[in-house]
Amino acid sequence: MKRKWLTTLVLMACAQMGAHTAAQAAGVTTAMIENDAKNPTSVLSWGMGTEGQRYSVLDKVNVSTVKNLVPVWSMSFGGEKQRGQESQPLIHEGKMYVTASYSRIYALDARTGKKLWKYEHRLPEGIMPCCDVVNRGAAIYGNVVIFGTLDAQLVALDKDTGKVVWRDKIDDYKAGYSYTAAPLIAEGLLLTGVSGGEFGVVGRVEARDPLTGKMVWSRPMIEGHMGHKFDKDGKAIDNGITGTTNATWPGETWKTGGAATWLGGSYDATTKLAYFGTGNPGPWNSHVRKGDNLYSASTVALDVKTGQIKWHYQTTPNDGWDYDGVNEFVTFDMDGKRVGAKADRNGFFYVNDAATGKLINAFPFVKKVTWATSIDLKTGKPNLDPTNRPGDPTAAGGDGTKGKAVFSAPGFLGGKNQMPMAYSPKTGLFYVPTNEWGMDIWNEPITYKKGAAYLGAGFTIKPLFDDHIGSLRAIDPKTGKVVWEVKNEAPLWGGVMTTAGNLVFWGTPEGYLKAADATTGKVVWEFQTGSGVVAPPVAWEQDGEQFISVVSGWGGAVPLWGGEVAKKVNLLEQGGSVWVFKLHKN
Ligand code: CA
Repeated sequence: MKRKWLTTLVLMACAQMGAHTAAQAAGVTTAMIENDAKNPTSVLSWGMGTEGQRYSVLDKVNVSTVKNLVPVWSMSFGGEKQRGQESQPLIHEGKMYVTASYSRIYALDARTGKKLWKYEHRLPEGIMPCCDVVNRGAAIYGNVVIFGTLDAQLVALDKDTGKVVWRDKIDDYKAGYSYTAAPLIAEGLLLTGVSGGEFGVVGRVEARDPLTGKMVWSRPMIEGHMGHKFDKDGKAIDNGITGTTNATWPGETWKTGGAATWLGGSYDATTKLAYFGTGNPGPWNSHVRKGDNLYSASTVALDVKTGQIKWHYQTTPNDGWDYDGVNEFVTFDMDGKRVGAKADRNGFFYVNDAATGKLINAFPFVKKVTWATSIDLKTGKPNLDPTNRPGDPTAAGGDGTKGKAVFSAPGFLGGKNQMPMAYSPKTGLFYVPTNEWGMDIWNEPITYKKGAAYLGAGFTIKPLFDDHIGSLRAIDPKTGKVVWEVKNEAPLWGGVMTTAGNLVFWGTPEGYLKAADATTGKVVWEFQTGSGVVAPPVAWEQDGEQFISVVSGWGGAVPLWGGEVAKKVNLLEQGGSVWVFKLHKN
């Protein structure tokens, strides 16, 4: 009797231990995420590694074999909900997790495309995404996949069943908040930002427990706002004001200052810092907020554990052109130092010390830049051209309704926008999806009203060249030299991936997924996906084979905001599908 009781206990203990071990084995860990860029069997983060290099170590698909790259399967996102598909898939244990427009997410068998589960978020009337109903991807940690929604919520789903594990509101969608970026997991925390920079929101970075949704800290990106940390009951505790109130914002302007962190962040395990880009200050009319307007249009480096700002580098002080500084800060090694690079909307490419933020290099990566003549490498400040700032509507000589119009380049859609670039440690080059365009822009009076566009500006985007707007450029971060380029008629809006097979993959609004030789830029492969590609490709290995995937579905900001350019791309058809390719076996 006694022995039986003991045996039962031992068996119970074993069963519990077994269950515990199994749960851990099935879950995604911090160590796995930090090793993401090196492990070809999975894609666990936006950026194919939290550093954001989008470099795959796989080389079976290479310059000589890519001619045999063929589609394996395609799956339609279905329904009547199409528009822009900007999502980067995640891959874990043979499953793909991919988000779609209108806050949808699917789990698929990565080998066959068989649908395992889907979740369609119920969206209220009156959501206010500025720039299409997109979503850029999910995060994965432990047993959950997490994504943001157009009504400014975070939803965590059981990765195996698709059941909701937790849901949390980021902020009030009626005030213009939404979320479209892929969340970032760093040091076991879920890091997210906010979208809504055209509505006078308050940009910030927040950390939560990814398994429960419990808030850990919140750090506003605008000087004057109080940061918070949260106790075990979820109670907010003051954690220091960001910057100094009114130091760079006059009067009450900081209260509705924008600086939305709408493209998410990157993380470098060697510096232990998370890097978030911040959007334009609100409103667009810069004359009502004289000053640098920190920390808008900046790269902000945050201590992941505490949410304290370790350094910031502002790319466009007192921005007057909607030059959101949200672009991804991609960390890499250069001259024996850990640095980060960013191709900014304002037309300049920046290299900063990843640990301190010190500017190391800056050069234009598009042909025409009018707002500044250069960046002073000593001070880190732009040399502004004051004649190219849109005028003050209240200036003497006018009737107060419209300031002096100027032609500015890049246009507000940027030398580069949401589409992420890639870096190859093999070639030492960045592969940057660029656009050449300008805009007529002028300022108008504006007052803040909750849930209304907060711009105080009018504008028309115009192409600069007849034969192309887009151009994929291979750029040397040390010299600023454009080593090669592949021009594209429509503006590029999809991200880039580069591989150890010495290839660069990118999509076009005309519907092609293309591959070029990473050294020469010679296009060696292309495939028509049936709708425009505005999303970044990924690669992984399964059963010893290399797979490549990209999402297809034309949309995003260009057809909505592109002015004269929008007319040029109106012929492109919408869609919504995910494609997977591998080498054909003879
Ligand atoms: Ca903006």
